[in-house]
Amino acid sequence: MKLKANYILTINKEFEIIQNAEVIFDKKIIAVGKNLPKCDKEIDLGKNSVIMPALINTHSHLEFSFNKTLLDYGDFIVWLNSVIENREELFISCKGDCYKKALEEMKKSGVCAFGEISSTGDDLRYLKHSPLKVVYFNEIIGTNPGAVDMLYQDFLARVEESKKLTNEKFKIGISIHSPYSVHPILMDKVINIAKNENLPIQTHFMESKAERRWLDEGEGEFKLFFEKHFKNAKPLITPLEFLEKFKGTNTTFIHCVYANDKELEKISQMNGKIAHCPISNRLLNVGLLDLERVKNYKIDYSVATDGLSSNYSLNLFKEIRAALLMHTTLHPKYLAKDLIKAVTINAAKSLNLNNGSIEVGKDADLIAFKLPSSIKDVEFLPLQIILHTNEVNKLFINGEEII
Ligand SMILES: [Zn+2]
Repeated sequence: MKLKANYILTINKEFEIIQNAEVIFDKKIIAVGKNLPKCDKEIDLGKNSVIMPALINTHSHLEFSFNKTLLDYGDFIVWLNSVIENREELFISCKGDCYKKALEEMKKSGVCAFGEISSTGDDLRYLKHSPLKVVYFNEIIGTNPGAVDMLYQDFLARVEESKKLTNEKFKIGISIHSPYSVHPILMDKVINIAKNENLPIQTHFMESKAERRWLDEGEGEFKLFFEKHFKNAKPLITPLEFLEKFKGTNTTFIHCVYANDKELEKISQMNGKIAHCPISNRLLNVGLLDLERVKNYKIDYSVATDGLSSNYSLNLFKEIRAALLMHTTLHPKYLAKDLIKAVTINAAKSLNLNNGSIEVGKDADLIAFKLPSSIKDVEFLPLQIILHTNEVNKLFINGEEII
């Protein structure tokens, strides 16, 4: 199969954009460039058309997809309390149709793969036939030392269940909820599984000022929160001890808004990744990740939607447009380029996927769409794409046309 477009964004190392170019693929990319050999099936996408790697949403919680207007925004702890209060109802209410809609929204916005954090395993039956690639992160949460064995057994059972579904579109990973919500014994046990089976890991890290204060001083809003819910009024680990545990793994640290220089340096040294969820951070009013600082530490970041528990949409183009508008100190032209990388090649590395760029041998996970009119300077292409794209005309996953 051959597709032809005005612009192909390869997202290779040089961020090469090829004009009036073609890509030939079956399940994998076979060739990309100009004047390629003839194919049986050829489509010319026409004026102002763009082909680029399909998008990858590294971090989501589809379990919460039923939420529209139920939760309280504006403060992290107030939000967390509202999640705890409504969790049961939201989980029970999200059934087949709810998952279908969530997948549909991602699909229309050109997402070919997503990382799903699963706390219960109930979402498995809805995601096993997902048209999109799933990296399914079974999550561990719990600090009560008396419950460690029970929680671990439950976790293992969920891992085994999900492992049975592993195929070319369904992979598994493991998730440790956060440094403040998981007992260190449990952390070690599940990280060992990831090490032995070479699975990607995700963990929320330094999302709020409250978390920073709690882990540094054992004080603040989290102290009141823990006393209310768990009668556990002492942090069990320091942030650096926590990070040390992930050495030798492929871990993505979610949020990191309040990560300090020492922590970012450590993440960088262990080749850790960061997932940036700007709309979620805004709605919970926790602040904005300093992308310049993250870049200075040479840490690859992806951009993700998080769940509908802290977002109004799972559309990844909307998410990077929000990022573009929020990071007011960065030049839009260069930021746009980084944001495109964040939802393609960086995201692929975070999830251990063989996609995210249009290069020979990569999975043929591609999107195509049209710009509303022609552009004068190709340097502005990433920016114009982010400004003008909400949905795609074509989505291919492993070379199969999904849209
Ligand atoms: Zn999250």
